[in-house]
Amino acid sequence: MNTYYRLLRYSSKYWKYLSLSIVCTIIFALLNGASVYLSIPLLDTLFNSGAATTSAAGAGTVNEVSTSILPDFILDIKEGFSNSFNDFIFAGGKTEALFRICIIIFAAFILKNIAGYFQAYFLNYVEQGIVRDLRDAAYEQLHKLPISYFKSERVGNLISIIVNDVTAVQNSVSATFLNLIREPLSIIVFLGIAISISWELTLISLVTLPFSAGIISWIGIKLRKYSQRIQEKIADITSVIQETISGVKIVKAFGTENYENNKFKKETGGYFRMVLKITRVRNLSSPITEILSVGVGVVIIYYGGTMVLNNNEIKASEFLGFLFAIFQLLPPIKELSGVNNRIQESSAAGDRIFEIIDTQPDIVNKENAIPVTEFKSEVVFEKVGFAYPDEPGEKVLENINFSVNKGEVVALVGPSGGGKSTLVDLLPRFYDVTSGAIKFDGTDIRDLKIEDLRKFIGIVTQETILFNDSIKNNICYGSTNFSEEKIVEAAKIANAHNFIVEMPNGYDTEIGERGVKLSGGQRQRLAIARALLKNPEIMIFDEATSALDNESEKLVQEALDRLMKSRTVVVIAHRLSTIKNADKILVLQDGNIIQSGSHDSLLEQGGLYKKLYEMQFRDK
Ligand code: ADP
Repeated sequence: MNTYYRLLRYSSKYWKYLSLSIVCTIIFALLNGASVYLSIPLLDTLFNSGAATTSAAGAGTVNEVSTSILPDFILDIKEGFSNSFNDFIFAGGKTEALFRICIIIFAAFILKNIAGYFQAYFLNYVEQGIVRDLRDAAYEQLHKLPISYFKSERVGNLISIIVNDVTAVQNSVSATFLNLIREPLSIIVFLGIAISISWELTLISLVTLPFSAGIISWIGIKLRKYSQRIQEKIADITSVIQETISGVKIVKAFGTENYENNKFKKETGGYFRMVLKITRVRNLSSPITEILSVGVGVVIIYYGGTMVLNNNEIKASEFLGFLFAIFQLLPPIKELSGVNNRIQESSAAGDRIFEIIDTQPDIVNKENAIPVTEFKSEVVFEKVGFAYPDEPGEKVLENINFSVNKGEVVALVGPSGGGKSTLVDLLPRFYDVTSGAIKFDGTDIRDLKIEDLRKFIGIVTQETILFNDSIKNNICYGSTNFSEEKIVEAAKIANAHNFIVEMPNGYDTEIGERGVKLSGGQRQRLAIARALLKNPEIMIFDEATSALDNESEKLVQEALDRLMKSRTVVVIAHRLSTIKNADKILVLQDGNIIQSGSHDSLLEQGGLYKKLYEMQFRDK
């Protein structure tokens, strides 16, 4: 229930629309009641000529006894209203009365439906607003989640929560809202009518309530459990789709389409079974409530019918009016019984959404974080040790000591798994060191403002991520204040200009998803152009391992050389030819720096670097 309350709190922002909707709902419920109430004079007019001049609708001496539980002043108001209403209706002849009733009924229905329309509109506004806000909040939270979250949690699950769970909340928040406001009002109105006609009969009608409530809450508990599982299943399905799409080449190359199909079918099969389970339970609530209600309905008809037949305790028209009112009570009660189910379902989805929203970022600014305005001299790694949060015992880096002076190119080399990528991830604080410290101009980077620190760092990753947008927007990613000349200049330095202008729309060409229309070398050069435009003081470059053809490699190398010129660079190098001119080369193996020095001195030293170099040289 807490989750649901939290979901509802999102509506407070839309209180104006909510109030309008409530006003419309009240009008709707009253007119709905009025249209039933009007049936009594209508029946009197049609069937009972004698009653045409007496008061209708529960007034008169006959049932004074039945309504005596109502306070006197209400009886007076009711009688006064009935009398003037009947005076108006029955002022002329019977045909005249019939005509007037028809007109009033028609008008009541028109107004009721107008009120119903606006009530639904205002409510939709609120519910869609809530959905938008929830989705925005969950998405914004994505940026705050620790990087480790994206590795341990499956990406598909995250997507599914933002897309599917939010929709699940929408489906139920809306219906529930409507029902929680409209149905109780309708119940009050119809119950009021019923009590005013005969409180005894009303009492009999209400005995089903405790039974229904018990059954309904049992169903609610089941539904919540199942819906959570359904949402998890949808997340699994999304994950499989996401994996297949990102690995489409591998699937084709390995010819594992059938394997993937079967994996997918297993997931959809599981989903199918779970939905059937929930459907079985959900659909139970309606027939059970109806059977209980009709059972009582039959008793009322018998009991009330006897009252009419035997001693005129109640007029036939009133009894019929009572039945109308009681049967009008059924749909709102049924709807209300479904409300609990929906609350449970949306709470299950809400739980999953709030789990994301409540995840606290682990890397945040300290209270008095120091702003950074300048990179003056050096970045120093002091006795840095690191283990990933999900495997705290496993030291990935140990006792790492080195410095990067301003303007220097420092290269990291070594066998795969040695810790190179992990090491560079520590600099922009994607992760925090577990021991030792990284100092930026002498200050521990954990004391600096994260956003300032990151402004000084540019990153070109192995996987050059391009967005589904124009080339131009990919180069000046996220920033609109670069002039056309600056963008072209960056592209030229990155050796990208020539291929860009040959594209159908030049700089405005849209890149397909994941940059499929571009070659690997072209993608790298675009990524380099992007980094150049940001013009960071410190550049982290994770050289792509994928092989490029000679021509492309030459162009990328040229671009890189220009990028590295007069800049501080940390480069993870796979082709050792790239870094011959680096000021410092660090050889990493199993989380330790086992060798360091310039290219020539390392070759002289012998050891792993020499071995790696000779191996590559031989391959060429
Ligand atoms: P390199 O870049 O030199 O190939 P990495 O820094 O990627 O090496 O990996 C170093 C070690 O850390 C490896 O043993 C790898 O399995 C482990 N590792 C990398 N990323 C994670 C992660 N997100 N969670 C846990 N362990 C990781």
